[in-house]
Amino acid sequence: MQTIIADMTNQIDEKEMAQAGKILKEGGLVAFPTETVYGLGANALDEQAAFKIYAAKGRPSDNPLIVHIARMEDLYKIVQTVPEEAVKLADKFWPGPLTMIFQKKEIVPYGTTGGLDTVAVRMPNHPVALKMIEAGGGYIAAPSANTSGRPSPTTAQHVADDMDGKIEMILDGGSVGIGVESTIVDLSTGVPTILRPGYINKAMLEEVIGQVEVDPTLLSADCKQRPKAPGMRYKHYAPKADMVIVEGEEENVIAYINDRICEELKKGNCPGVIASDETRHRYCGGAVKSMGSRSDELSISRHLYAVLREFDEQQVSCIFSEAFETPNLGQAIMNRMVKAAGHQIIRV
Ligand code: AMP
Ligand code: MG
Repeated sequence: MQTIIADMTNQIDEKEMAQAGKILKEGGLVAFPTETVYGLGANALDEQAAFKIYAAKGRPSDNPLIVHIARMEDLYKIVQTVPEEAVKLADKFWPGPLTMIFQKKEIVPYGTTGGLDTVAVRMPNHPVALKMIEAGGGYIAAPSANTSGRPSPTTAQHVADDMDGKIEMILDGGSVGIGVESTIVDLSTGVPTILRPGYINKAMLEEVIGQVEVDPTLLSADCKQRPKAPGMRYKHYAPKADMVIVEGEEENVIAYINDRICEELKKGNCPGVIASDETRHRYCGGAVKSMGSRSDELSISRHLYAVLREFDEQQVSCIFSEAFETPNLGQAIMNRMVKAAGHQIIRV
C-alpha cells in the first residue's frame, strides 16, 4: 500500500481532508496530529476498521482504543449516561488532553473497546484532528500512531517511520505541543479516578469536580493489582537500549552518571545520556541529549519521545537518564520514563 502524506502544517487542504474523510468512512486508516501525540484513526463504529488499527500497530486486541469526537453533542450517542462531573470537565478541558471513561452504548463495537462495556472518549484540541473527525463521520477510534512498544510519535516523520506502507494516509500537522498522551479519568464508577497521568493533573481536575483518586498501580512500581486501563499493563515506550533512571541530588546524579559513562567508554561502548539544558555540558562523554529546560516543563514533555527514538537510531550501548520530577507535568513525564526504563531506577 502506498501511504499518502498530506502536508497540513500551515493550512488545511480541503481536497486532501475530503480524501481523508472518504478513506475513514470506507474503513481505512488515517494518522493525524493532536496536541498530545499523533493518533492512528479509524471509524470507531466499524469493528472491521478498528481491527485494522490493531493489525497495523501489532497491538494486543484487549487494549481498548480511545474514541475521538469533535462536538460535545456527539458524546450522547455513544455513552449510556453522562455524569455531571463529565459535563463540568468537558466544559473546562474539551477540546483538550483529557480522556474520560463512560459506560458504552451498543452502537460502539467491542472491537473498539477491547471487549469492555466501557468506552474512552476524548475531544482533541487540534484543528486538523477536529476537521478530520468530522470529515470521517464524527467517531474516530485512535491510539497513538506508533508500532506497539515503540515510543509514541510526536512528528509525522515518526509516524511514517513506523507506518509507511501499512496505512492509507498521514496528515502532517508539524510537531505536537504537549508530547505525552492524554490524562485518562474513569467516570464509570464511584469516585473519579485517574488511570493515566497526563497534562491535566490531579490538582487541575480537583479544582473542577472535587476529590479525584489515582489508580494505585500508577503510584507503585511493584503493585500487584492490575491497572484499570488495560494499556498501562504493557511495557510501553521502550527504547532499544537498556535504560536506567538516576534519581537524587543533581550533583550526585551527575557524578554517578559520569562514572558510568567512563566505564562504558573504557569498554569501547557509546552510552547515551538524557540530560536537561541546564546539565548537558556537565557530562564527560557519550551521546548526551537534552530533553529541554527544567524551567519549561512543556519543552521536556514535548521532546521525550523524540529523544528516545533518536537513541534507537544511534545504537547506544545503554542509556542513563536524569529524573524529571517537575512540578505540574512531572507525574506524566516520569510515568512514561519509568516504563521506558522497564522500572530500572537507581537512587544516589
Ligand atoms: P493510546 O491511545 O495508545 O494512548 O492508548 C489508549 C489508552 O486508553 C490505553 O492505555 C487503554 O488501555 C486506555 N483505555 C481505552 N479505553 C479504555 C476503557 N474503556 N477503560 C480503561 N482504559 C481504557
Ligand atoms: Mg499508545
